[in-house]
Amino acid sequence: MRVFKFGGASVKDAKGVKNLVSVLKTTGHDKTLVVVSAMGKTTNAIEVVIKNYFENKDELQSSIHDVIKFHNEILLDLFANERHQVFADVKAFFDELTMFFKSNKSPDYNYVYDQTIGFGELISTTIISHYLNEVGLKNNWLDVREYIKTDNYYRRANVDWEQTQEQISSNFNKSILNITQGFLGSDANNFTTTLGREGSDYTAAIFAYCLNANSVTIWKDVPGVLNADPRYFENAQLLHQISYREAIELAFYGASVIHPKTLQPLQRKEIPLYVKSFLNPKENGTCVSKGKAIEPEIPCFIVKKNQILISLSSLDFSYIVEENISEIFSLLHLYKMKVDVIQNSAISFSVCIDNIYDNLEKLLQHLKAKFKVTSHENVSLYTIRHYSDASIKEMEKDKTVLLKQLTKETVQIVTK
Ligand code: ADP
Ligand code: ASP
Ligand code: MG
Repeated sequence: MRVFKFGGASVKDAKGVKNLVSVLKTTGHDKTLVVVSAMGKTTNAIEVVIKNYFENKDELQSSIHDVIKFHNEILLDLFANERHQVFADVKAFFDELTMFFKSNKSPDYNYVYDQTIGFGELISTTIISHYLNEVGLKNNWLDVREYIKTDNYYRRANVDWEQTQEQISSNFNKSILNITQGFLGSDANNFTTTLGREGSDYTAAIFAYCLNANSVTIWKDVPGVLNADPRYFENAQLLHQISYREAIELAFYGASVIHPKTLQPLQRKEIPLYVKSFLNPKENGTCVSKGKAIEPEIPCFIVKKNQILISLSSLDFSYIVEENISEIFSLLHLYKMKVDVIQNSAISFSVCIDNIYDNLEKLLQHLKAKFKVTSHENVSLYTIRHYSDASIKEMEKDKTVLLKQLTKETVQIVTK
């Protein structure tokens, strides 16, 4: 039993869907679960729809229409017969989405987000499942929400492992080709929940864990895990084999090629993770598994742009101690801030955060009531694993360093 995951980049157009078929033909498709994300940038496009809805913008209809048009073009490229069932199935999802916005009464942004954002995945898997059937790869479309059960912490739901295991053990047919959605789950009341942006890698790992799969392969637009993001660094090198620990560290610090939550369930059952190129399915890519790397450790570079550095000190020059720090952390948790680095001294505390859920204003307001606050927006956080002096120098060149922190294996540098 294998689990494959195809992300948005791999199915951004009809050509991508056809390529997915050729990957499955190259690798074989028996006893395989294929987890698929929304096509291309659909999730971002639905985020625009949700924003328009909450801001009562006239553009609400046209933004929904943009999403419909994008998928219709792909459908027309893939299916010659416009009376094919897929057109009705996709239309039914769009009708449901439009209906939701018409009838919704909830003012809760996170709830509304989770009830609507997942249509990208529901539609992409519907198109792909029909297309696979059309070209002879018979498959079973699953609604992932019947399998992955979570709490109702909308937009970053936590998996209820016991219930998920039970659902998967009793309802999943391992012997066929199954297609399902990444990113989604459902809560105790069967409302849709999501696992956090880019969460489809994690979905693949959840299934692999519960199915005791032999392996997970995530198909990417890069040859595997590289020692740096090729969008920002030249001459990035492929890491052929890395340990779970190294991959967890890289993902944790922001190497966005693997969603950070993916590795833990795999490590617990020692299920290998392959990161491979969907353009070269025969290449080995990267294998993440138990044990040591086969290559010597080279510096690995990770950059997170658009971060925020907040520095706090007490209003009365008193020490920043456990009590204030725990208060600061509960506010960071309340506003769903992702904490990248912290540094504290006697009377000050600095934290570099990722404002994923757009709550900065509220957080700052809250903090300013209790602390003297300075903040820098738009800073970059560079992390080097297995750093050398030369690699640090290179990183700091032409930049203003706002914060720097070294441990034995890792240096983190916040720059402007
Ligand atoms: P998906 O289509 O599955 O959502 P992503 O776009 O999230 O895939 O992940 C692939 C991207 O991750 C690559 O295009 C690359 O720019 C980026 N990336 C960041 N860090 C690394 C790294 N260390 N190695 C390879 N790719 C990386
Ligand atoms: N479609 C979702 C996103 O863009 C989940 C994923 O792609 O992994 O965040
Ligand atoms: Mg992605």
